[in-house]
Amino acid sequence: MITYRRILALVSLITGLIFISATAYFIRQDERQHAHERNGELLALRVTYEVHLAELEHNLINLAQMLASEPEVIRLMSSAAQLPRGVDGSINQDALDSLRDGLRTVIDPQWQVMQDQLGIRQLQLTTPDLISLLRQHAPDEHGDSLERVRPMLEAARRDRVAHSGFEIGRAFAGLRGVVPVLAQQPNSTPQLVGLIEIGALLDGHIARLTNSTGVGYGVLLNPAAVSPTMWQAFQPPTSNGDHSCCFLLATSRHELRYWVGSGQLHPVNAPYRIERLHADGRDFDLLRFPLHDFLGQTVASRPPVGALAVWRDVTPALQAQQAARTEKIVSGLLGFLLVQGLILGVARLSRREWQAQLAAQTREVSTLAQRNEVLLMAAEEGIFGIDLEGRTRFINTSALRMLGFRQDEIEGERQHLLFHHSHHDGQPYPEADCPIAKTLKDGVVRRQEDWFTRRDGRGFPVELTCAPLIEDGRLNGAVVVFHDISDNKQREEALIALANTDALTGVANRRHFLERLQAELGRVGRHATQASLLMIDLDHFKRVNDTYGHATGDEVLRNLAALARQTLRQSDVIGRVGGEEFAALLPDDDAASAVQTAERLRKALETHPVITADGVQVMVTASIGVTRLRATDQKPEAPLGRADEALYLAKNQGRNRVVLHPGDQTTQDSD
Ligand code: GH3
Ligand code: MG
Ligand code: MG
Repeated sequence: MITYRRILALVSLITGLIFISATAYFIRQDERQHAHERNGELLALRVTYEVHLAELEHNLINLAQMLASEPEVIRLMSSAAQLPRGVDGSINQDALDSLRDGLRTVIDPQWQVMQDQLGIRQLQLTTPDLISLLRQHAPDEHGDSLERVRPMLEAARRDRVAHSGFEIGRAFAGLRGVVPVLAQQPNSTPQLVGLIEIGALLDGHIARLTNSTGVGYGVLLNPAAVSPTMWQAFQPPTSNGDHSCCFLLATSRHELRYWVGSGQLHPVNAPYRIERLHADGRDFDLLRFPLHDFLGQTVASRPPVGALAVWRDVTPALQAQQAARTEKIVSGLLGFLLVQGLILGVARLSRREWQAQLAAQTREVSTLAQRNEVLLMAAEEGIFGIDLEGRTRFINTSALRMLGFRQDEIEGERQHLLFHHSHHDGQPYPEADCPIAKTLKDGVVRRQEDWFTRRDGRGFPVELTCAPLIEDGRLNGAVVVFHDISDNKQREEALIALANTDALTGVANRRHFLERLQAELGRVGRHATQASLLMIDLDHFKRVNDTYGHATGDEVLRNLAALARQTLRQSDVIGRVGGEEFAALLPDDDAASAVQTAERLRKALETHPVITADGVQVMVTASIGVTRLRATDQKPEAPLGRADEALYLAKNQGRNRVVLHPGDQTTQDSD
């Protein structure tokens, strides 16, 4: 189940994740921005380096050019070029030594100035066939062939133009400028008599750059490029042990020396990237750019001979970055706490409100439920509710009392099968006709009289109202309210009986008798059955009244009615149609049997006198007219008229007799 606490925890978690992600995103953005800026700065520093380098190369060429244009230098070098070569290409050493001395005499003063003021560290003169004529920087080393060792020299010899660039030589690795020395011949093209190259260490150059930019510059050489070329004694320092990444040719700051010495640097030809290094408790970003030598500038496949390293102290930047990161984390955390606090506050307030509402609603519902329960149980009416299948969901005490069931016998059971299965006459009650089942289908309120059967099998009439139960907007069952209308029925029947009965004698009154007669006429008309009518009138009844009093007269009337009831069949109808006139309707009797019945009645009266309180016998007789009901009789007046006519005949013939209407005597089928 999803609880309030779980929802809150989930919301907090999501909020936390959002803040963490946002903070991480901003920090990362910040770091990227910084890295991008640092990278850009280092790239700019490289460009600065390149520009300075180009300027330096230009200066080197100028210096070499200056020497190459000295007439004495040209003369001496021409002489050296023209010295005869042995079979193995060797030159006469003595002749060469004297030329070298001559050259040195010319160059020495300038060399001193170049070293002291211009940072020049290398100066070499070679013959056109690339024999080292003079190494000013290594005076004892000469006479070796530089063929296939120094591509820059080969290029200058071939092209006869100046070249410059970085190159690793036998005794010197650094930046060089090489110029051809040309001797002007009269009337012919200048002749190449040798090459002059001047090299500068990069130290001074990068020191100047460091002074102006504040960042470290250094040149690292690949051992693979240095070892086969340079004489051991001239090789630059390198790191010790297995971690020898490179030779350190030049550095403007001490950190690079430390990193090389302690083997912290990656191999020199590692791909271009920024390295984070530490020295003296500070952090540095170091970026390396590939360093191509002269040949590498033109031959793309030639690997770089080393790398230019540029590094800067990033300690303040990192501290600032760290501070910014901390600030972001703190503000993220504060933001989270603030939002979290707001969420909790709002949640708490809403929760309180919900709880109050819930409590109020619960109270209301419980009050309502109690009230309903009381109403249900106190109601005189029987009340029960059913579901869509007709099963009882609840039932009140009155209903249980009326139906004679226990609650557990009814709840969950189908009411129709339990107590609604029969009509009042015992005929089965199909569920399709059941008003409750109909309401369950169409949701229409129904009110009608009906018949329920008690647990003991006795039935009773009810008036029921069946209303649909709408829950959540849809029909979900029905509620039935009913009450026992047995008493009403009895009262109703008593009233009806009262309305139809003559108060004095208990037989049907005139109005009711006429109704029954009318109904019988209809039956005779429809089914062509037999029925007869008697009209009975006491003989000289006035005298009875006059002689014994009205009360005795009444007693005589009651006696006649009682005798008629005894004499006639249950199905016959006796009615008092006038003061002392009675009529009897005999269904199923033809005229003959009606006359017989009338005769039995006449005799019964004759033999059953009324005895007064004084013990006096009051003998009364009656005259009776008889007629047969005919299919042609529309109204009761018709047979009543004929019966009256027959009665009249009986009176006239002397009274105390039965007379059949003359119309009924000849043939019974006269109608
Ligand atoms: P007849 O033989 O010709 O019929 O003579 P009768 O005296 O019986 O004459 P009739 O049938 O005309 O008499 C009706 C009498 O019935 C008149 C009246 O006093 C009497 N009567 C009518 N209703 C009542 C009644 O409710 N109680 C009593 N005691 N007498 C009644
Ligand atoms: Mg009469
Ligand atoms: Mg009479």
